[in-house]
Amino acid sequence: MKKEVAFTCELPNGIHARPANHLEAVCRQFSSDITLKNLRNENTGSAKSVLSLVGTDTLLNDPCSLIIEGDDAEAAFDMLATYLREEFPLCDEEIVVMDEGDVTLPQSLMNHNPTLIRAKRLSAGIAKGKLIRYNDIELSVFEQEIASLTFEQAKQQVTETLIDKAELASGQEKEIIKAHLGILNDETLNEKVSGFVSNGESLAKAILLTVAAITETLMQSSSAYLKERVLDIKDIALQLLMTAHPHVEVTTDFTLTEPSIVIANDLTPSQFLGLDRAFLQGLILTQAGSTSHTVILARAFNIPAVSGVEIDACAKHEGETLFVDGGLGIVALAPSDAVATYFERAMWLAEQVKAAESEYLNLQAQTKDGHKIEIAANIACTVEAESAFAKGAEGIGLFRTEMLFMDRSTAPDEQEQFDAYKEVLEAAGDKAVIIRTMDIGGDKPLDYLNLPHEHNPFLGYRAVRIYPQFLALFHTQLRAILRAAQYGHTKVMIPMIQSIEEIRWVKAQLEIVKAELTNDNTPFGAIELGIMVEIPSVAFIMDQFCKEVDFFSIGSNDMTQYLLAVDRDNDNVAKLYNSLAPSFLRLLRAVVSGAQAHDKWVGLCGELGANKKVLPLLVGAGLNELSMAAPSIAPTKAALRQFDSEACKALFNEACDCATIADVEALLEAFTQSQEDKPLLDVECVLLDCDFNSKEEAIQTLVGNLGVRGRTHVVNELEADIWARESVFTTGLGNGFAIPHTKSDNIAHSSISIARLNKPVIWSDDEDGAVEFVIMLTLNKNQGDQHMRIFSGLARKLIHESFRNTLKTMTTEAEIISYLQSELSL
Ligand code: PEP
Ligand code: MG
Repeated sequence: MKKEVAFTCELPNGIHARPANHLEAVCRQFSSDITLKNLRNENTGSAKSVLSLVGTDTLLNDPCSLIIEGDDAEAAFDMLATYLREEFPLCDEEIVVMDEGDVTLPQSLMNHNPTLIRAKRLSAGIAKGKLIRYNDIELSVFEQEIASLTFEQAKQQVTETLIDKAELASGQEKEIIKAHLGILNDETLNEKVSGFVSNGESLAKAILLTVAAITETLMQSSSAYLKERVLDIKDIALQLLMTAHPHVEVTTDFTLTEPSIVIANDLTPSQFLGLDRAFLQGLILTQAGSTSHTVILARAFNIPAVSGVEIDACAKHEGETLFVDGGLGIVALAPSDAVATYFERAMWLAEQVKAAESEYLNLQAQTKDGHKIEIAANIACTVEAESAFAKGAEGIGLFRTEMLFMDRSTAPDEQEQFDAYKEVLEAAGDKAVIIRTMDIGGDKPLDYLNLPHEHNPFLGYRAVRIYPQFLALFHTQLRAILRAAQYGHTKVMIPMIQSIEEIRWVKAQLEIVKAELTNDNTPFGAIELGIMVEIPSVAFIMDQFCKEVDFFSIGSNDMTQYLLAVDRDNDNVAKLYNSLAPSFLRLLRAVVSGAQAHDKWVGLCGELGANKKVLPLLVGAGLNELSMAAPSIAPTKAALRQFDSEACKALFNEACDCATIADVEALLEAFTQSQEDKPLLDVECVLLDCDFNSKEEAIQTLVGNLGVRGRTHVVNELEADIWARESVFTTGLGNGFAIPHTKSDNIAHSSISIARLNKPVIWSDDEDGAVEFVIMLTLNKNQGDQHMRIFSGLARKLIHESFRNTLKTMTTEAEIISYLQSELSL
């Protein structure tokens, strides 16, 4: 049977890869052959292949026809006619590329007039090394060569090599190799190469023509993600060409012999993995975007990386030492001594931060009075697990599995999911891992599921609500989790539950899947079952939920938006989105007490968990666990030790009785200050024997040290505050002393820092502008007139030579601290 649907393309950008993905997924449900014909240019392509659809070059307003031939043509016609009319025109939502904007660069660097190239930030960290250019391998060197293997033989060999590599690899590296195996078996790639060969082209030519065709198609896509796959195609093509032409010498080995920063137009993932990581310090790329596999690998291996830099801009600096700062998004060329010193200091400070955090990494999370509260990590992909545990995680409190399903054209199969869950469970050892089943839909759409476009996605078809329609997908995920559960302490958590009916349905599905596994003789492990508490209605029937599940985890991101009816992503109402609302705190209390009345475990895994300001309230609420992004774990463990749990409990109850958010904030502020804070004067902020070369270096180091000591979490901003004051008038007070100071929100613990220099530095252009003793005041804005009191007290003391001399000659940090304490009556 043959049917035809006529339609006009209403997509503003035509049928590029994203809508093609949609159409292909719908067509693939039918066994009939389905062909898209563009009546403007007469191009045709299979509607079951994304690359073919894109190849029809269908643009806005092109008249088209979908020709359906086969047994189920009737059913396909009915569905496709509606789909093309109602859904297809809506499926081309713009992909929002996050513009992170430029970071403000520190003045302690900018004052030295560095030669900088601004670049896109891809992987944080600072690198120093010799600039080495990675010359692109021209695939065309193979063009005239005769292959000694057939396509099938070459493919077989490359497949075996990749499988071997995958076995030795782990984490992201393994996932990327697996993705390359997928490309090697891609239908379009195989059909194209075979087609060219049967048309009489040499194998080399056939591969090159295929790469050119696929590249052209991908590059036309408006999806950055698809564009970035070009490098993966090139990678596979190179491997096929080299395998089929072993006699052609291509130097892919690019030997690094000293600490190096590699600059490249394109660097394929294999080429990246081929670089000696003992010497590879940083990467400068011309074209890579943040989802390119090379960049994902760079992040996994902690290699600082930036992109968007033209090779020519750096060409004349090849062989020279330079710096890359992946966090600031800069390349510093031809660094002067002062610029080099800035970066070396910054690298040293970063090391200090790491070392300071490592003190807390392996300490159990507990309050000052020994009350334990588990601090766990939120992760979105397998490779994060290992680094989360290295950062001190006491478990995985939220594994957002939906990320495994995104940015691809089909769902991961059972084996791929099993491997991912197993890898995380193995990384966890005997610690618990909470695997959240896919939270898809709403604000996290998946092209290939063809979920309807919704006006109100957060209240719509998402998470557990879509599972009945995509039952096979849900069962596959449950099978993979149950099988992986043999490898560790597995907790399964269902998102967006609002009724007992839903959780009972989930439990029935679990029983079905377990029965299937038992029937297949497939071994599986025990799990605990829990729900996310995101929808406020759950709080009213906690007693009923406690009969159904083993644990709860509060999704404060969604719970706040649903309680307050404030879209979490809408800037216009962002001011109303505040989890310090007394109503939210009371809801939190209801959930925690409801769970604990039945001895059930209850954690919290929204962003609120990492908000240190709110930490005493969360401790006071009596939560069993807080789960957060891994970098926040060590600082949270450190902060936790400052609080008394009973005092936190009293605070929480008092906060629940407040009328307004402002009242809660005032209460919190007063509480935080009443708790034993870090002392204003402490040896950890005294630096003696400093070899500073400039005022910039002094300020950079003193502020950086406050970051190391956990007294500020926003070093750059605090440094900007200090410089802002400095630009109004110099803080050099004469006689070799300077008191840079600020009263700021950017300091968590008010501090007096001291640096005694081995040689004076120029502080200002005045006659008396040299400084060899710096006392820096960074005082919290909320501490009344303390700032002026200390500043004027110090200024008065510094008039006296004996005071100055004592400070200059005291031998230890502790002596200086106790002298200042008594002299300033602090
Ligand atoms: C939450 O809602 O707090 C949560 C952790 O889930 P997500 O942010 O993934 O919606
Ligand atoms: Mg949520």
